[in-house]
Order: sequence, then structure tokens, then C-alpha cells
Amino acid sequence: MSKPTYKNALKNPVFNTVSKAADALSLDAYVIGGFVRDYLLKRGDAKDIDIVAVGSGIELAKEVSKNLSHKPKVAIFKTYGTAALKTAGVELEFVGARKESYTKDSRNPKVENGTLQDDQNRRDFTINALALSLNEDTFGELLDPFDGVKDLDDKIIRTPLNPDITYSDDPLRMMRAIRFATQLNFTIEKESLDAITRNAERIKIITNERIVDELHKILASPVPSIGFALMHKTNLLPHIMPELLALQGIDEKEGQRHKDNFWHTLEVVDNIALTTDNVWLRWAALLHDIGKAPTKRFDKKVGWTFHAHEFVGSKMVYKLFKRLKMPLNDKMKFVQKMVLMSSRPIVLASDVTDSAVRRLIFDAGEYVEDLMTLCEADITTKNPKKFKRYHNNFKLVRDKIVEVEERDQVRNFQPPVTGEEIMKTFNLKPSREIGIIKDAIKEAILEGDISNDYEEAKALMLKKGKELGLSIN
Ligand code: ATP
Ligand code: MG
Repeated sequence: MSKPTYKNALKNPVFNTVSKAADALSLDAYVIGGFVRDYLLKRGDAKDIDIVAVGSGIELAKEVSKNLSHKPKVAIFKTYGTAALKTAGVELEFVGARKESYTKDSRNPKVENGTLQDDQNRRDFTINALALSLNEDTFGELLDPFDGVKDLDDKIIRTPLNPDITYSDDPLRMMRAIRFATQLNFTIEKESLDAITRNAERIKIITNERIVDELHKILASPVPSIGFALMHKTNLLPHIMPELLALQGIDEKEGQRHKDNFWHTLEVVDNIALTTDNVWLRWAALLHDIGKAPTKRFDKKVGWTFHAHEFVGSKMVYKLFKRLKMPLNDKMKFVQKMVLMSSRPIVLASDVTDSAVRRLIFDAGEYVEDLMTLCEADITTKNPKKFKRYHNNFKLVRDKIVEVEERDQVRNFQPPVTGEEIMKTFNLKPSREIGIIKDAIKEAILEGDISNDYEEAKALMLKKGKELGLSIN
């Protein structure tokens, strides 16, 4: 029987170059993995192209570079036996076909040369083991030993070999399975899901950086909750984000219940994924309630409370980022700020005064719209009347933000009277009084007692100076 052929997948002229190079070296070469999968899923042409050579991947890469007019530089990774080069907007990675065997305590296998079939056996999923031949006489032929094409049609994540061994060998694959299920909206077949559950604890040998890569990809997916629900179901979540898991469950006391903040959080993340691609804002949605677990109390008069959970939560963001080895930079500060301020617009919505809006804009600065987006995503009530009312209230807050900002410009607040001017006016050296005067001006502007205007601020400066017993220069 002749093999199905996909020459159309290989229209990029670079595949011809690889083909000629492989024939010149008399070795078999294939494009394999994500590129083939994404072509068949019509996800568009992947920019990363993985080439496997039955023989030396490094030699093949060098030969390909030689045959390209601009002779791209070949980056060689000797320890891994791989080589990479960039050409015409794509990145080619070359590897020699290999056979792998694992030991218990590492996800780095012992490697020996192997056949294409050996190489396909070491792939994580059937849909990632698809290969297209690149040699001239078999150009475009599909090699699909595990029925990966059928799994693509059926939308199934399945391992080529025994899933218990596959996941135990390299536990990162558990996160990859969940990530692909989320990205592609595929189902992880039952044997795989059970094997992940059995091996969940082995995720400990994976570095945090790798796990975070997968978390980012899950969060960047159209429906991120799929991934977090799967991490929960397979028991991976306690190893990765115990803070989130701690939000799960509903307590009842004296007939009073609070909502399950874990499932609520996942709804919020899905909501926000509909309105923003900003992955850090999605992180903020994921973490906006994490302070609720440690602050939960029951009070006979008011019922369940989560006093200061926003503040506690923003501190937890730092610890979580640090533990997961995520960058402790402006992205983290942004997430902290969103968590810290996550209830502010809600308080405002019932009574939208100019001064409260000015303070909100002043405190949130350039992120005030992101904050509103988060608060809108936080509306998960199933009561249609309430749903509409809450959204309308936030719409009013948004309108007010535009109106107030247009008039008062406190978004990137610059004091209308500078510290230097205060020092000059009262002949002061740097001192406490300057701070007091500056603060009084800022407060008066935010309260609406004066406008954000030089003359009015100067008048207040003189008045305050007098009150402080300062004499004019
Ligand atoms: P994407 O690039 O969209 O994340 P991909 O499938 O290309 O998806 P890569 O991480 O680029 O994923 O890996 C390329 C190929 O290498 C995969 O398709 C798979 O065949 C194989 N692979 C990657 N990581 C593993 C792993 N941990 N275990 C087994 N095979 C893997
Ligand atoms: Mg890839």
C-alpha cells in the first residue's frame, strides 16, 4: 500500500534544501513533531521546524547551511547532538535519530543512535510523533506508526508507549499533556490520565522554569481553566500551586456558606481570556483571590469574611513568583498591584464620586483599564439580573474614569508645584515641611478641593507655608 503523502506541507523551499543535503549525505531525513501536527490541524505553518536525521543531525545542518545562499550560522549543541540554524523566518533544529533509556532520578536519558522508529518511540504523544519524509524519492510521505492522525481527528492525547513509563521517565510530559489538551481543546485518554495521576508526585524532579513555561502556555490558551481543572483532577496542583488548591471547598456555619473560590477563580480566568491576551493580566486573574484562604474567618454577625485578603494576596504573589523562579520584576509588581487593588472598583461601583475615581486613577496609574477588565471578569454570578446590574455599574465607573481623567489628569500625576519651587519660595533646605506641603496639594487635588492647576496649587502652597510658620523668601 502506498503511504499518504503531504507534499503541500513542504512548500517552503527550505525543505528542498534539506532534501538535497540529505540525499548528498546518503542519509534519511524527516520533518517531525509540532510542525507536522500543526500543519494537519491547519494551525498555520509553525516557525520551529524539527528535523530528524538517521545519522548525524549536526552534519546535516552543516550541509544545509552550505547549500543556502546566505550560509546561516549553525549553532551546535554537542552535548545534545543537536544543531540549529535560522533562515527565511523559520528556525530549523536538527537531531540524529536516537534511542533513549531513563534512570529513576533524572529526566535526562541515556542516549544512543537509533532508527526513525526508535526516535518516534521516544516522542511524548502520538500526535507529536508524526514524520514526513524529506528524501527526494519519498518526499512528503507520512510515517505514522501510532495512528497519530486518527488521534488528531478524534482530538485525543495519547502516548506512543506505556503511559506509566512515558510519564515516569520524563514527568514534564504530564504538564505537556495538560498543556496540549488546553491549547488544542483535546481530551487526554483515560489510561494517560490515570497514569498522570499515579505519577503526579514525580513532577518534583522537574525544574520550576520548565513548569512555568507550561503554565504560561496554559494561561495563554483560549480556555485556561481546562488546564487547571486537569491539574486538579490528576493531583498535580498541590505540587505546583498549593495556594490555589487551598481555595477549594465550601464551608458552612450556622447556615451560612461562602462560594468555592477555586472554581470561581477558574471562571474568572476564562472570562478574562475572552477580553485580553495579556498573559500577566491572566496571571492576576488566577491569583486575585489567593489571599482568601489564609484570611477566611467566620463572624457571628457578618458571616464569612476575608479581611484584607487583597493585601495578604499581593504578598503571596511575591512568594509564589519566587518559589516558581519567575521573574521578580515589573511584571510581578503589576500582578501584585492588580491583586492588591482587585476590590477597589467594586467598592466604588455603588457610589461613583469624582474624588473616589480620582484616587482610583491615581493609585492604579496606567493600569486602571486593566484593573477594570479584571473586576468585570470577576463577575461570575449566575443571576442574570445581578450580572447585568454589576456590568452596568462598572460601565458607569469606566465612563467616569474617562471624564475625570480628561479634566484632572491624575493618571500620570506630576505635582503642579515642584519640590524645588517650594524650597525656593520658603528658602528651605530639603526637609519635612516640603513633604507636608506636597502631600497637602496632592490630597486637595484628589479630594477635589482644588483643581490640578498651577495657580491653585501655588495658592495652597503659600497658605500651608503660613500655617507651618514659614516665611517667604
Ligand atoms: P510547540 O512548539 O507548539 O510547543 P511542539 O510539539 O513543537 O509544540 P516542542 O517542545 O517544540 O513541542 O518539541 C518538539 C517535538 O519534540 C515534539 O513535537 C515532540 O515530538 C518532541 N518532544 C518535546 N518535548 C518532549 C518530551 N518531554 N518528551 C518526548 N518528546 C518530546
Ligand atoms: Mg516546537
